Amino acid sequence: MAELANCSRCGAVYVKALRDICQDCYTEEERAFQAVYSFLLNQNNRKATRTDIIDATGIEDWYITKFIREKRLLLSKFPNLSYPCETCGTGITSGKLCQDCQESIIKDLKREEELEMKAERYKKTSSVANTYYTLDKKNRK
Ligand SMILES: [Zn+2]
Ligand SMILES: [Zn+2]
Repeated sequence: MAELANCSRCGAVYVKALRDICQDCYTEEERAFQAVYSFLLNQNNRKATRTDIIDATGIEDWYITKFIREKRLLLSKFPNLSYPCETCGTGITSGKLCQDCQESIIKDLKREEELEMKAERYKKTSSVANTYYTLDKKNRK
């Protein structure tokens, strides 16, 4: 039996296949991709920026992000393309986050680690203290 789903883009009910979008949206997306790709294939447009592409093809901005994320548009081939950092929206060319956000995440992680280590150390010291205490009691006997 065919499984029905809602298109993740337009919400239309469609028969679920490999994609998470309906046939209409898929056709639309393919058209957008062809437009972007043929524009970029033109030797003069190799260094086009997002804005250039949007101006020239009239497609919506998020399509470009999607194509880059899906690696259909390779940033190695088109050096002036970028997509927004998931946290702050700065243009980036690799990964999910810009340098700044990456660093602040690493800093946060380190801080957490330090806190954990402190807690760990505290636990150790208190258990050591307890041991001494028990020993102490034993010795006193
Ligand atoms: Zn749809
Ligand atoms: Zn960022």
